[in-house]
Amino acid sequence: MPSPARRIAHFDLDAFFVSVECLLNPALKGIPLVVGVRGDRSVVAACSYEARKFGIHSAMPMRKAEQLCPNLTIVNGTRGEYSRYSRIVTDIISEAAPIFEKASIDEFYIDLTGMDRFFNPLQWTLDLRQKITDTTGLPISFGLAPNKMLAKMATNAAKPNGWKKLELEEVQAFLDPMRVDAIPGVGDQTFRTLLQLGIESIHELRNANLQLLQKYLGKHGADLWQKAQGIHTSEVAPWQEAKSISTETTYDQDVLDPAFLKQELIRMTEKLGFELRQDNKMAGCLTVKIRYPDFETTSRQASMDYTFYDDELIRQANSLFELLYRKGQPVRLLGLRVSELTEEARQTNLFQDTQRKAELYKAIDAVKNKFGKTALFKAGSTKNNK
Ligand SMILES: [Mg+2]
Repeated sequence: MPSPARRIAHFDLDAFFVSVECLLNPALKGIPLVVGVRGDRSVVAACSYEARKFGIHSAMPMRKAEQLCPNLTIVNGTRGEYSRYSRIVTDIISEAAPIFEKASIDEFYIDLTGMDRFFNPLQWTLDLRQKITDTTGLPISFGLAPNKMLAKMATNAAKPNGWKKLELEEVQAFLDPMRVDAIPGVGDQTFRTLLQLGIESIHELRNANLQLLQKYLGKHGADLWQKAQGIHTSEVAPWQEAKSISTETTYDQDVLDPAFLKQELIRMTEKLGFELRQDNKMAGCLTVKIRYPDFETTSRQASMDYTFYDDELIRQANSLFELLYRKGQPVRLLGLRVSELTEEARQTNLFQDTQRKAELYKAIDAVKNKFGKTALFKAGSTKNNK
């Protein structure tokens, strides 16, 4: 059983990018809407609940989304606004909360363990949610539960624009009827493997034979078996301003196909590139990480001219991958990180800083050249380098 002493709140802004777009342009409210760009290789970055009714979900190819919903409205996303709203919410939470973790641009964990003596945790959490919606106008949901995993699952169950509290004695009844892929981190591959073992619900998972799960899913199997019982020991990690942005994927089955890894590298790079542009930040360093099945982890990083453009980032990621990847070896995890983040605006100020001027000229010129290129990229099709 989870430790009874813990109490964790998980906050998640609902359809965050879409909600911000609707604040900026109320005409977008209540319609099937996605944030992203049109194009053969682009994917949905975020979608409204109305779009979800058509079967659209984030990370889906844009072409497919358009097929599912012919009247779909696509907006490109408003640079800078998402991080601005995220910061407002972060400030409200950091003012109120003793210990909190910013898990992503729109997601927060707050550790309220032991606070019961001083106030009612549910009322406190409701008040905080009210303050966030009053200040920003953005819908946000929360879960209040005995650990991080359960809090996140409670939030997911409460969405959109709701909340759910889970007491220790309610946990198993909450989990049991859910499908196993409601557990955070259960991907398609694991889900299929479990289905093949005749396990579809969390109830079936917790009653499954542990040896069988370990045989087919390894360590992950034992971990899932615990999660099916509501056990999760991860701590709320105190938040600091992001000095890097990263993404990584652990594969349900080790990957042998280098072409697939290259594809994954592009997908991850585009994800980070998009986040950088939305955050109005550029990166001056990129790191590729590979973990092998024996858990040996290798990484390589390199500095680069400041950029937030996918093609630049992909070129850098590819060349690091080539240096790092051991041909013929299966890969368990692939990760990518961009760091040395710089505010776009700050680049211009640094231009006046005479002491560091010479050193920075090169980077600034590179940035300026990129701005010239933007128009070409936005206009569309060709990979023009001039
Ligand atoms: Mg969200």
